[in-house]
Amino acid sequence: MSDKYLELANSGLGKKLFSAMGLPEPVALVRENPDAPHKLMGQVLRGVSHGSALHDVIGECLKETELQLCGSAMVGKGHLIYDASGISSAEESSQLHEFFQQNLKALASNGRVIVIGLKPNAARHSAQGTLQRGLHGFIKSLAKEIGRNGATANLILVDKGGEVSLRAPLRFLLSAGSAFLNAQVLTASRPVSPVEADWERPLVGKMIVVTGAARGIGRAIAEVLTRDGAVIIGVDVPQSEAELNTAMNKIGGLALPLDITSEGAAEVLRDFCLGQGPKLHAIIHNAGITRDKMLSRMSDRQWNMLMQVNLGSVQRINGALLATDLLDDGGKIIGVASISGIAGNVGQTNYAFSKSAIIGMVETLADSCAERGITINAVAPGFIETQMTAAIPFVTRQMGRRLSSLGQGGLPIDVAEVIGFFVSPQASGMNGNIVRVCGQSLLGA
Ligand code: NAD
Repeated sequence: MSDKYLELANSGLGKKLFSAMGLPEPVALVRENPDAPHKLMGQVLRGVSHGSALHDVIGECLKETELQLCGSAMVGKGHLIYDASGISSAEESSQLHEFFQQNLKALASNGRVIVIGLKPNAARHSAQGTLQRGLHGFIKSLAKEIGRNGATANLILVDKGGEVSLRAPLRFLLSAGSAFLNAQVLTASRPVSPVEADWERPLVGKMIVVTGAARGIGRAIAEVLTRDGAVIIGVDVPQSEAELNTAMNKIGGLALPLDITSEGAAEVLRDFCLGQGPKLHAIIHNAGITRDKMLSRMSDRQWNMLMQVNLGSVQRINGALLATDLLDDGGKIIGVASISGIAGNVGQTNYAFSKSAIIGMVETLADSCAERGITINAVAPGFIETQMTAAIPFVTRQMGRRLSSLGQGGLPIDVAEVIGFFVSPQASGMNGNIVRVCGQSLLGA
């Protein structure tokens, strides 16, 4: 479903009209070209706090890109990167203030603010850890100030041994793929498997399962991962077989009609993957349903059915795959949660429970997965334009769209791009992350 308000706000006449009436004017987001390999565009101005140990690593990461790096000032507009990892005292925090005060005017529409800091346990002492935690509040507030210009602010925290993992999140945040990722914290940890570095088509030859791939976000995930070189096994309910075949034929993927809640489904999926020959690179647990009702009126069926699709089947599939070595040494598991599982939502006790539990799955499996060279991460989408959200009543739908710092809902491709980043072999230092893909929705923020 298209967002007519956003379209009008970005048309010639609409711009004049909206401005005269004082209406909010959300900026149309610039996204990746679906037919072209990844490219980083624009110029970058970079600042660094005194005593940073990451200065050289960040410099090397940026030098490898096609971005235009500016010296102490920027001619025109672009992205702003600030390495705040050296900040250890309240007095030293003034460096952060100074850099952005002087340079925010150079931030482009659709530009990126990226702040880099240390995970508190990687800090040299507690005072430094304390100050580094302050960066969360800083980027969340800044994101609210710059969002109306289509610009975003995100934070990368570097864990002990995670310096070598900085490249992937830095490049992703600078790319058009991160357009709807806003006010989030990504942690770069020690890589769990060797880092390969094909930045343009990172998934060439990799086999990836996407559940719920016939339509909506799942279909977009399948398309984005195919663009990046993957071979997709798309799973969806037998009732959607025709839709699934159409989706898979378009991208040269394999269709597996399967209700993931049916008896033995996890083993059917595992055996199908084993039968393809190569190892499985990733499983994307995207299939999900809503069965909204106030708790007092929610039937057993509404609770149990949802729990089986959104959670039970995910656990059974993980169990079946992890009982083999199909995913070991470089494999990726992705959960699809929801901001409902973070913020809660009226009429969604069942859905929010299941999505919160997906976050729990990531938190509890991250360490044991890392020991086998596997990463596990989750995305928590906010308002995304799909059939699921088209079914929401008009007023609530409009509120869902506008209640984000970017003033609009996301597109399925926005969720797909974040997943594409997490499953890229370069992101082997990204483990245990849960990120909202919501444009900084005010719900539960
Ligand atoms: P959708 O309803 O458009 O697509 C979901 C797909 O999952 C469908 O093709 C459906 O047939 C499939 N599916 C459902 N039950 C299945 C089963 N038992 N076995 C196999 N396939 C099954 O939904 P969407 O909006 O694309 O959502 C995708 C995921 O993103 C879901 O997990 C959803 O909870 C999550 N999410 C969506 C939004 C949003 O705004 N659309 C927000 C937050 C989270």
